Amino acid sequence: MQNETHALVIGGSLAGLLAGRALANHFDRVTILERDFYPQQPAPRQGLPQSRFPHTLMLRGQQVLEQFFPGLKAELLAQGRSP
Ligand SMILES: Cc1cc2nc3c(=O)[nH]c(=O)nc-3n(C[C@H](O)[C@H](O)[C@H](O)COP(=O)(O)OP(=O)(O)OC[C@H]3O[C@@H](n4cnc5c(N)ncnc54)[C@H](O)[C@@H]3O)c2cc1C
Repeated sequence: MQNETHALVIGGSLAGLLAGRALANHFDRVTILERDFYPQQPAPRQGLPQSRFPHTLMLRGQQVLEQFFPGLKAELLAQGRSP
């Protein structure tokens, strides 16, 4: 496409993936460049040393995530994770 708009996000962790989702509303194409490998199952990964530690998602963050990914809270709860 000649006038296609394309956004590039470097880093595909929480901030990068969320930025990619937000940009998808405004660009024809979004590419996320991640140097690490994503695990097949939810698990810590090498490129994210802090992923081994427990994290808490604050309420406002959960609300924003739910707007971008409807049903996320229910999905997390179904997997036994508390959002
Ligand atoms: C012990 C601990 C506990 C924490 N608890 C909480 C908590 O309870 N709640 C909370 O909100 N936050 C918590 N944090 C902070 C939280 O982990 C970070 O704020 C969050 O991970 C930052 O997300 P991010 O997507 O910005 O960066 P990161 O998660 O660090 O991701 C960066 C990504 O960029 C990729 N990358 C880096 N360089 C390149 C490159 N050159 N090319 C391509 N890809 C690249 C990496 O592989 C990685 O995937 C905690 C942190 C620690 C250490």
